[in-house]
Amino acid sequence: MLNNLFKQKFPFSANYFSNLLEFVFENKRTFPQSIIFEGADTISQYLFSLELARILNCTGDKSQNCDCINCRWIRSFSHPAVNNVSQIHFKGDDDETKTVISSKQAREIEKSLLLSCDYHRFFIFFSSSDYCYDENELNDFRTLNYQTNINYSIQPLNFDTFHPTTPNALLKSIEEPPNKVTFIFLTKSKENILSTIVSRSQVFKLSGDPQKLDYSDIKNLFGNYFNLDYKTGLNLSDEIQKYIKENQMPLCAFLDKFLEYLKDILKQNLQNENIYQKITNDINLINLALKQSRAKLSDKIVLDTLFLSIVRGY
Ligand SMILES: [Zn+2]
Repeated sequence: MLNNLFKQKFPFSANYFSNLLEFVFENKRTFPQSIIFEGADTISQYLFSLELARILNCTGDKSQNCDCINCRWIRSFSHPAVNNVSQIHFKGDDDETKTVISSKQAREIEKSLLLSCDYHRFFIFFSSSDYCYDENELNDFRTLNYQTNINYSIQPLNFDTFHPTTPNALLKSIEEPPNKVTFIFLTKSKENILSTIVSRSQVFKLSGDPQKLDYSDIKNLFGNYFNLDYKTGLNLSDEIQKYIKENQMPLCAFLDKFLEYLKDILKQNLQNENIYQKITNDINLINLALKQSRAKLSDKIVLDTLFLSIVRGY
């Protein structure tokens, strides 16, 4: 569903959202209500957000060439439920602020959420002013069949993009939105966004650099990875099921991350024959588990089998 363009640009997040979308369509997960995209390339963040909105609203085959009315609207920036929010977008006539996203805008959003809506509504926040892009700056848009008549700039949110009263006015909407509403904030770093918003959002780094993943959750769960026995292996399976459920994380995404973590350990232990053997063996087992998970076996069966195999060594 997501174009390969994104898999090259930010492999981790593209992979994560590909998995997540499948689960959303099977009603096994809900799509996050608030997301922060961090990274240097704000235009790609914007296009990625639009693509998520397009796929979630598509009434056709969700492909790159889908010609349903929703896909067409989004590609021409005119979908009624996919909103830009900036200093120059989503602004009422009576709003006199010109240089900030105001609390009036936040209240307008809150009011709009009172109306029911069949679409998956998106509010994409970024910093903007009148601007005209060079043709080749929007190549990626063209590749994905979007129009390229964008007459505003797409820049990262900063502390001064919001009026000081705006984040608080937004909180209620972000915290308890109706079903199928997603807020997306585009920024260079989450440090530039007020912590009250950050703490209510899922943060993803969209960057071309090799993803430096935060492995602290994996490390917590796998403290005794090298000394597992049958009992601790099955306990681990339970703990992971609990963890991914609490974090609304598809099992595939967790296993992908576990794989990356092991590859990292492997790189640091190329000289150690025992560790090398064990990890390469486990990597094969995890790849097998990934296949089973994608074949829709239950999380419990996949994880129990995986850890029993890891303990057994085959
Ligand atoms: Zn479509």
